[in-house]
Order: sequence, then C-alpha cells, then structure tokens
Amino acid sequence: MVTLLDKTRQKPRHPEKVNRPENPILKKPSWIRVKAGGSPVYEKTRKIVRDNNLVTVCEEAGCPNIGECWSKKHATMMIMGDTCTRACAFCNVRTGIPGPLDPQEPANVADAVKKLGLNHVVITSVDRDDLDDGGANHFVETIAAIRQEAPNTTIEILTPDFLRKAGALERVALAKPDVFNHNLETVPSRYLTVRPGARYFHSLRLLQQVKEIDPSQFTKSGIMLGLGEERNEVLQVMDDLRSANVDFITIGQYLQPSSRHYPIDRFVTPEEFKAYETIAWTKGFSMVSSSPLTRSSHHAGEDFEKLRANRNNNLGQDI
Ligand code: SF4
Repeated sequence: MVTLLDKTRQKPRHPEKVNRPENPILKKPSWIRVKAGGSPVYEKTRKIVRDNNLVTVCEEAGCPNIGECWSKKHATMMIMGDTCTRACAFCNVRTGIPGPLDPQEPANVADAVKKLGLNHVVITSVDRDDLDDGGANHFVETIAAIRQEAPNTTIEILTPDFLRKAGALERVALAKPDVFNHNLETVPSRYLTVRPGARYFHSLRLLQQVKEIDPSQFTKSGIMLGLGEERNEVLQVMDDLRSANVDFITIGQYLQPSSRHYPIDRFVTPEEFKAYETIAWTKGFSMVSSSPLTRSSHHAGEDFEKLRANRNNNLGQDI
C-alpha cells in the first residue's frame, strides 16, 4: 500500500518521512499470501464501521489480513482518531497533530461491537502524547461502553506506551480488560531507528505493571521480524517478556508500507517462524502465535480461547 500522500487532505500522510531516502520495496515471497476482500460479510463489516464513524487499524495500517478478518466480521477498532503523535519508522498510520477526542466514540464502538456480534473484540489506538492522560480515560470509557452494550464480549486492548503519563496505565488496567496487549514491536537494538519515540524498558515495565496491578489479567506482546534483528536478540526479548510474566507472544513478519518507511531486511521463512514458536513454548508462554502473517489481532478471539484454556490447564509456567 503506497500512502505517502493523503489524497483526501492533499498533504503528506507521513510528513516526517518525506525527505527520507527511498528504500525499494522487496517483492513478497510466495508464503505471504493475502485473501481478497469483497465478500458480502466483508462489505457488511465495512458498512458497520462506516456507519458508526469508526477508524480501524486494519485499514490504516494496510494490514494484509483484512480480506480474511473482515470476512469474519473481525475488525480492530482504532480509537482516538486516525492521526498519531509518534512517527515510528515502520508504521503506516498517519502522523501529525490529532483532532479533539470524539465523546461519542466509546458508544459508537460499543454499538458496532454489538452489531457485529463479536465474541471477542480488539481495541487499539493511536498514540496521543498531546493528551494529559495519553488517552487513558477514553480507553476506560470505551471498555465500560462495550461491557454495557455487549456484556458477553471479551475485550482485548492494544495500548500505546503511556510514556510520561503518570497514572494512565493504572487507570486502564483497573478497567479490567480481559487481555492487556502492548507490543514491544522489535528488539532493543532497533529502537532508536525503528521506534525512536519509545523506550524498550518502559514498554517492558508497563507489561510487568499490569500483572502487578491485576495478576488475573492476561498480558500479551508482539514483535515483528525482518527489521535486521539477530536471532539471539529475539530469544532475549522472549526471556524479557517472561521475566515480566507476559502470557502471550506474537511474532510476525514486518512488511514495508512504502518506499520511505524502514527498509525490510529480509523475509523470515515459515520454518524459522515455526522454530521461534517452539522456543517460545519452551520458555513458558501460555500462548504463542508465530508465522509470517501473525499480527496482534489476527485470530485474536480463537487465540484468547486457547490462552484461557492453557492457563486453566497450567500450560506455560510461572517463572
Ligand atoms: S490482523 Fe488485525 S489489523 Fe489485520 S485485518 Fe485482521 S483484525 Fe485487522
């Protein structure tokens, strides 16, 4: 997906990337196959998203799984607007100064969840460094609205890092989502270039704090491969996540959204993903998803059921 120019606004979608050198986009290997959209259920999902005035990360991130997910009504809502205050080198979400929060959004999200009939929903957001609480209260209101409108739906949140937002994490964790996900995205050695606005140990500590606040809450985190990381660094990230008592790790292939985004280093083979999966299980995670097309929210509902069952069966170990 080439999205450097936002045609509806006639201004760059990623102003900070306009003067970056061009990095040719590598041809995708045969194992990166995506299902086309357009089925009746896909169209119905899109209509509900539009009618409720919602933004989805599926569209904004140019996710390769959208055809499959939306054909099962699995849309991942991205709250607090479509513009992010960070400028991560890998991300396709628009960067800039966001508009004010929509006070109707929590109700609109809840209404969409009900109409879609979701057993499990994933709610994510842009980074809102411009807000005093980083958007924590909006997460809390959205969780409450879904609980009221669709009480049987389990809720997974994928949050920003709430860096320098004292008390924000605590507020969101106390709203008791079923799964608290925060992605590390990459190994520490890549942070300065891939995720320059974030801090590895802050993100790790955030996940650990969720468990300290509510040990019953499931925690989840993910990384992308193909950003130039070394194998031993990936294994170290697994150990770090287990040290923070994280339950579920997702590992997927980085796909370069445009020629101005961070260059893809290589396509990791399905066999390598499988090998990482095996190692992750041995390290004690209660749930592992590792494949080229793994994304945080891909198959999130099915994986949540497995995660819950595995915990009940004491699969995975406390360290
Ligand atoms: S994997 Fe997640 S972001 Fe991608 S289409 Fe599916 S629900 Fe949306």
